[in-house]
Amino acid sequence: MTTLTGNALWDTLFAPHEGSESIFLHLPDGRTISYAEFLGHSARLAGALRQAGLAPGDRVAVQAAKSADALALYAACVRTGLIYLPLNTGYTAAEVSYFVEDSAARILVCDPSSEETLAPVCEAAGARLLTLDAAGTGTLADLAIDAAAFPGAEPRTDDDLAAFLYTSGTTGRSKGAMLTHANLASNALTLREHWQFTEADTLLHALPIFHTHGLFVATNVTLAAGGAMVLMPKLDTAELVRWMPEATALMGVPTFYTRLLADPGFTAEVAGGMRLFISGSAPLLSETHRDFEARTGHRILERYGMTETNMSVSNPYEGARKPGTVGRPLPGVELRVVDRESGAPVPQGETGIVEVRGPNVFKGYWNMPEKTAAEFRPDGFFITGDLGRLDEDGYLTIVGRDKDLVISGGYNVYPKEIEEILDEMEGVLESAVIGCPDADLGEVPVAILVPSPGATPDLDAIAARLGETLARYKQPRGYEVVEELPRNTMGKVQKAELRRRFSASRG
Ligand code: ATP
Ligand code: MG
Repeated sequence: MTTLTGNALWDTLFAPHEGSESIFLHLPDGRTISYAEFLGHSARLAGALRQAGLAPGDRVAVQAAKSADALALYAACVRTGLIYLPLNTGYTAAEVSYFVEDSAARILVCDPSSEETLAPVCEAAGARLLTLDAAGTGTLADLAIDAAAFPGAEPRTDDDLAAFLYTSGTTGRSKGAMLTHANLASNALTLREHWQFTEADTLLHALPIFHTHGLFVATNVTLAAGGAMVLMPKLDTAELVRWMPEATALMGVPTFYTRLLADPGFTAEVAGGMRLFISGSAPLLSETHRDFEARTGHRILERYGMTETNMSVSNPYEGARKPGTVGRPLPGVELRVVDRESGAPVPQGETGIVEVRGPNVFKGYWNMPEKTAAEFRPDGFFITGDLGRLDEDGYLTIVGRDKDLVISGGYNVYPKEIEEILDEMEGVLESAVIGCPDADLGEVPVAILVPSPGATPDLDAIAARLGETLARYKQPRGYEVVEELPRNTMGKVQKAELRRRFSASRG
């Protein structure tokens, strides 16, 4: 029987599995870890953190390899009331230094290979450095061996913080989103119901666990359902194909799906036992959605969320999954699309800023009261900064980011409208439209093209075609051909980087 402790996230994700011999994790080498083993280990890690002098509310920054132990450390923080702060494993020492200082973390847990470079960072920030490697050894593990296991969980209020999650930094410096117990627990339960996860599920987990998608969507939903995960260190389509017959669900960024489609070993038969493929974090092309259905008979379920809100919108489990849309607001989440200047709702079908309100929405940005105040409306709606439009059935299409909007001679140019046309052109694999400074018009749209394999796009023909289809102010004033678009680990196109590169080269 579950003993509730008044620690919402613990009670939702972990407490129901105390003593359970069911498998929680399948490791790449075929070993398995039961819920009981996992929770026992988290109790020892929790004991070590407590023995190190940490008190509820303290921050624990973690830049560690993806492993069962790193997840047990997350569980340890939840049960002791510590604030878990995962960091991208790609961050340099200078970047880690910013996050440790900004969050005033008491401890930084890192891979032993970074110990030397991060020791001065910790010294300067007054944080203690502990290590944990992919195999679960290191100075943190050493402390855990000797520590008394921490029983049960520290009581917390729903409004207490469970995590600081820094945003991906696509549009500027990463911001620390303060997420409460209620934020994370409510979203895990909503998604479990909406996507019908149960203890019979086995999720293929190839996402990083320092981002909301791999941690608070994939892991929390599996935990809330009591299911299992195949924990893969990174995206490797051959491994996905190998494990797929043992699994029931996959969560990925769009790159997962384009890579799977490029792998001839990925067949309808391989996907035959799967019940659900979910995509998010970046836009899934309608073409990928259609090709995937043609190959496997499965319709990918696309959903939309962000670090600050967890998941807000999703296509349905039963019912129409519409390609090019992210679906409807999840139960309990209110959504509106408003005019960027006036804040008034725009008529259905028109593009505006997406705003959301609900138990999933974060408490604010750490250390940034002005920024927090600026991103919330007086009635509590959070201004996501994404542009979208609703169709007649209430399905949302994400049109792009407000910051990527090009304003040329006073007219709004939505890059996605142009990108969709460019992507269909002969010789073009994909495209990105950005705004570049222009003395006369303020900004003009410029198209960055990636050629299809072996093709050379005919730029004159493309420009002529766009001349026929688009109003003059939307027509790109320049074309650049690149080998690939810069993307981060979550598959997000880095438009700020493109703007830096091409604004300069265009003088
Ligand atoms: P920063 O806020 O630091 O600039 P970021 O917004 O990229 O970085 P995340 O919170 O990781 O950081 O990403 C959330 C964003 O990802 C959303 O605001 C949206 O722009 C994009 N996104 C998520 N899911 C989808 C989707 N299904 N389709 C299109 N865009 C999506
Ligand atoms: Mg953002």
